[in-house]
Amino acid sequence: MNPAEVKLWLQAQPCDDNLNLPVSKVKLVGPSISAYLAKMGILTIGDLLYHFPHRYIDLSKIKKIKQLKAGESATVLGEVVKVKKWHGRRGIKVINVTITDGSGYIIGTWFNQDFIANRLKAGMQVAFSGRILYKYNQLQIENPLYDVLKEKGEEPIHSGRIVPVHPATQNLSPNIIRRIIKNALNEYGRVSETIPVETIERYNLLPRSIALNEIHFPSSRELLMKARERFIFEELFLMQVGLAVRKKGIEFQTKGISHRRDGELTTKFYKTLPFKLTEDQINAIVEIQNDMEKPRPMNRLLQGEVGSGKTVVAMIALLTAVQSGYQAAMMAPTEVLANQHYLKVKGTMEKLGVNIELLTGNLSQKERESILQRIKAGDVDIVVGTHALIQQTVDFKCLGVVVIDEQHRFGVEQRISLKEKGYYPDVLIMSATPIPRTLSLTLYGDLDVSIIRELPGGRKIGEHVETMLCNQSSRDIAYEIIRSEVNNGRQAYIVCPLIEESDKLEVKAVMEEVDRLKNEIFPDLRVGFIHGRLKSHDKEAIMKQYNEGLLDILISTTVIEVGIDVPNATVMVIEDADRFGLAQLHQLRGRIGRGNYKSYCILFANPTTEEGKKRMDAICNIKDGFQLAEADLQIRGEGQLFGTRQSGLPDLKIAKLTRDAEVLLEARKEAFRIIDNDPHLQSPAYKSLLNEVKRKFADNLEWLFQA
Ligand code: ADP
Ligand code: MG
Repeated sequence: MNPAEVKLWLQAQPCDDNLNLPVSKVKLVGPSISAYLAKMGILTIGDLLYHFPHRYIDLSKIKKIKQLKAGESATVLGEVVKVKKWHGRRGIKVINVTITDGSGYIIGTWFNQDFIANRLKAGMQVAFSGRILYKYNQLQIENPLYDVLKEKGEEPIHSGRIVPVHPATQNLSPNIIRRIIKNALNEYGRVSETIPVETIERYNLLPRSIALNEIHFPSSRELLMKARERFIFEELFLMQVGLAVRKKGIEFQTKGISHRRDGELTTKFYKTLPFKLTEDQINAIVEIQNDMEKPRPMNRLLQGEVGSGKTVVAMIALLTAVQSGYQAAMMAPTEVLANQHYLKVKGTMEKLGVNIELLTGNLSQKERESILQRIKAGDVDIVVGTHALIQQTVDFKCLGVVVIDEQHRFGVEQRISLKEKGYYPDVLIMSATPIPRTLSLTLYGDLDVSIIRELPGGRKIGEHVETMLCNQSSRDIAYEIIRSEVNNGRQAYIVCPLIEESDKLEVKAVMEEVDRLKNEIFPDLRVGFIHGRLKSHDKEAIMKQYNEGLLDILISTTVIEVGIDVPNATVMVIEDADRFGLAQLHQLRGRIGRGNYKSYCILFANPTTEEGKKRMDAICNIKDGFQLAEADLQIRGEGQLFGTRQSGLPDLKIAKLTRDAEVLLEARKEAFRIIDNDPHLQSPAYKSLLNEVKRKFADNLEWLFQA
C-alpha cells in the first residue's frame, strides 16, 4: 500500500472499542453536563477516560473513631445516627451529622450547605475524610469529603482512599467529574491494549485497562506511579509512531528526483571558495548529497549555530540541483535576509554561469511578471526570495530543490503547499535556533538531521562575547563601550524592541529614543536606523551601508534578528531585554562576536517576574545555544512550545519533555523499530495500536500522510 491507500484504509477501519462514543453514553451525563464537558474539550468517552487527575489527596488511612487524634487527617467509616440543622451566628446555617463505628462518635460539620442534610440520613453507611478537630468536647471534621456507601464494604470514591482531583470548572466540580469518570470506568473501562505486548513486556508497563483504573482511582501509591509511567510512555510512544509513519511515508515516496552529486558546477564552486570547509560542513554536504541522489524527496534539517557556515552548504544543495538540470529555490523569512542571500548567491555563482533572480513581494508588477515568465520557462536556475516564492502564481518548470532558511519562522504548511503544486523537490530546512534534542525529536521527529557544531576556525559560538545585565544607572558606561569600540574601527548595534508596529505610543517612544541617540548621545558618529516599516529598498540601502562600514551604529527594531552577518560588529545593546524570549536574545547576540574581536552584549532590563529574572540570568551565564534552549524549556515549561496547528502533533498531556527525556528516547526507539518492521502496522498484533494512532491523529490524518 502507498501512503494514500493506507490513509483511505485507515479511515475505513472501525474502532473496536468504545472510546469514540460520545460522553453522553456515560451514566449521569445528560445534555447539560455534556455541554460543560465539551467546553473542556471532552467529547468522547476516550477524552473522558484520558482526563487525568492533576493531583491526589491521600485519605487512605481508615481509622477507628476512638484512635483519632486532633490535628491528623484521616478517614472514618460509620453509620449516620443523627442529622441536625441549626442557625449559627450571623445567619450561618450549620449541619451536623453524627456517625459511629461502634468505637465512638464523630460529628461531620458543614456550613451553608443545606443539601447535605437531604443527602445524608440516619442509618446510612458513610465515609468521612478530613482533618480531625476536637471542639466543644467532641471529635469533629469540618467540611469532610464524604461518600455514601450503599452497603457495608462498598469501595468509597471520594474518601477513604487516594482521592483523585481532576481538572474541573465552575460548572463541573471535581466531585461530579470524579463520579462520572467512575461511571465511565465501570461501563467502558475495559479497553483494548494499544501498546504491543512485546513492548509492554520489554518495559514492564502496566496494561492499559488496569492503568486507567489506577490513574483515576489508585489502590496504592506504587500502582499510581506505575500507571503514570505507562501513560507517559504511551503518549510519547504514540507520537513517535505517528512521526515514524510520516517519515516512512517520505521514504516510500517514489516520485522524487535523483540528482547528480558530481558535476562541473560543484567542482568549480569548490575551487572558488576562499576557505577550507570544516569537517562538519563536509559531513553535512555528504549527507545532503546522499539524499539528493536517491529518487525520493529529501527531508532534512540542517542545524547549526549562527555563523557556523550553513549558507555554503545550502549553496552546494542548490548547485547540485542545477547541475542535474533542475531549478532551485531558496526561501528566507524576511526580505532583508532574502536580499542578503541573493547577493551572496549571486556574488559566488554568477561567474559559474548560473542565472539567479530575487523574488519578493516588493517588485513592480512588470518586474514580477517578467521574472515569473522566466521561472516558468526554465530560464532562471536559482530563485531566492521570501515565502512569496512558493505562493500563488509562481510556477516552476522543474523545481528540484528547496532550501528553507530559519525554519522556525515557517510552518509545515509551506512544505505541504509545494507538494500540492505537484512538485516533489528535495527539501532542506536550515535552522540556527538550537533546540533541545528532546524537542527536535518531537517537532522534527520525521526529518533527518545534520548538525554543524564547530564554527569555522575551530571557534565556539559566543566564545569571546561578554554578556552583561545593566540597569539605567550604567547607561553611560554602555555608551562609553560603544564609543571606544567605534574609535577602534568596530561597529555597534542598538536594539529597541517594538512589539507592535501599530502601537502609536510605542512607536513614538522608539522614535524619541532614536532622536536622542542620534542627536544627543552620538552626534559625532554615523548612526542609521532600520525598522520593519521601511520600504525594502531603503532597508537594503541601510544594510549595505552598515555592511560596508559606512555606519558606526545601527539602531534597529528586531529586523536584524536573523541571519545578518557583519563580522566587524562588536557591541550590541539591547533595550528592554526582558521583553524578548531567550531564543530571540540568543539570535540577536549571535550578530556579534562573528569576527575575531572581543565583543560585548549589553542588556538593559529590569525584570520584575521570577521568570524574567531567570531568563536574564540564563542569557548572561550560558553561551552555548543548545544549553540555553534546555534552560528555556525548563523556565517556560512546555505548554507554549507546541503550536499544535503548526506541528501537526497532538499536545502532550502527561509527559514532559524536560522530565521524561529518557522515556522519550526509549519510546522513539521502540516506535521506529516497529514501523521499520511493519510500516503499515498490518500485523494483527498492531491492530489496537493502529486504532489508537488513528484516534490520536484523527484531526490530523492529513499531517500524518502529507509527506
Ligand atoms: P550561518 O550558519 O549563520 O548561516 P554563514 O553561512 O552566514 O553562517 O557563515 C558565516 C560566515 O562564515 C560567513 O562570512 C562565511 O563566509 C564564513 N564561512 C563559512 N564557512 C567557512 C569556513 N569553512 N571557513 C571560514 N569561513 C567560513
Ligand atoms: Mg544563515
